[in-house]
Amino acid sequence: MNAYLAVIIGSLAGSWLLGVLSNILGARHMPPNPPPEFADAFDAQTYAKSREYARASMRLSAVTDTCDTLAIIAFILAGGFDRLDTAIRALDLPPLATGLAFIGALTLAASLLGLPFEAYRTFVHESRFGFNTTTVRTFVLDRLKSLVLTVILGGPLIALVLLFFEHAGPLAWLLCWAVAVLFSLGLTYIAPTWILPIFNTFTPLEDGELRRALETCARQAGFELSGIFVIDGSRRSTKGNAYFTGLGRRRRIALYDTLIKEQSVEEIVAVLAHEIGHARKGHIKQRLAMGVAQTGAVFFLMSLFMSSPGLFAAFGMERISVYAGLVFFVLLFTPVSLVLSVAANAISRAHEYEADAFAARATGNPGAMISALKKLSASSLTNLTPHPLEVWLHYGHPPALDRIRALSAFSS
Ligand SMILES: [Zn+2]
Repeated sequence: MNAYLAVIIGSLAGSWLLGVLSNILGARHMPPNPPPEFADAFDAQTYAKSREYARASMRLSAVTDTCDTLAIIAFILAGGFDRLDTAIRALDLPPLATGLAFIGALTLAASLLGLPFEAYRTFVHESRFGFNTTTVRTFVLDRLKSLVLTVILGGPLIALVLLFFEHAGPLAWLLCWAVAVLFSLGLTYIAPTWILPIFNTFTPLEDGELRRALETCARQAGFELSGIFVIDGSRRSTKGNAYFTGLGRRRRIALYDTLIKEQSVEEIVAVLAHEIGHARKGHIKQRLAMGVAQTGAVFFLMSLFMSSPGLFAAFGMERISVYAGLVFFVLLFTPVSLVLSVAANAISRAHEYEADAFAARATGNPGAMISALKKLSASSLTNLTPHPLEVWLHYGHPPALDRIRALSAFSS
């Protein structure tokens, strides 16, 4: 077997196996009663429901992962890439259009394959536990909007990458890096005003006790906010959330209407203080710097591997091309992506502890953050006792119990 093919199939199968193993271990890692810290937030019925939700989510993700992995391996072994390439070349399009058609067809196929699973997750799985509020109309419109955005934003970026690798010689990876970084900064900059409002309505938070408390908290933390907005999260789910968007002075905080409905003023202030903690502790800049470094490394490695004849032989390709090399490199990168995402999750979990500590100190009220976490856990039926392998693989936030224990240290 071709060495590249062995690495690719091996790592696809390996990452599938790790995922399924974490689901099996996770399903057995649930004690009959909630941890004592949650005794006041989870009654017996809620706790039983949270265990059932976690188990059903694990089953669903095992089925989805299995289908995805089987589909991609079957496509590779059946010579799907070469068949697609031959069919698109037969259209006799200009070189750039041929490359875009190849990548576009694969992207479309992958999203069509994922569609039934997304629909099932939204309308059957989430509905069964009372979370889903998405209408069929919103679901369909969301997909269409995403598709249009992918084409008009992703299309030109891919086109530039293809052109650079085709014509710019050994410096191509540097040009791709520069363009990709500028593109992602630009996207972050325009997201709050141009992209996010396509999916949600942002309403400035009305004047009142909550707004004044949030403004006081930001001022005391020495943090400039360009706006406090309420986002209609209830259009899709009953689960609450909050996040910052934008860069520099365009930074704004978005609070889900579902969060405002269920949390008290002091709890929402604690959530804001936590988000400010991420900015004040430099997490946002660190994340940005890591993203920039990673993008550079990916393009550099891509430039080394993407035209290797062995890589094309692995997929049974008759002809070498930049566009197929790009796709094959992404597959070859699977094991490295897995390692990078585990590392990124570990860093993110460390950041969450730091932001919690910042919120506890800034508000002088760790109890508010603790009760916010408890309410959020109960209303979204969070798995209170995830298996360490699940946390290691998938958790960008520490389990709520660990956060509450760390916060409790500030109370005494
Ligand atoms: Zn956070």
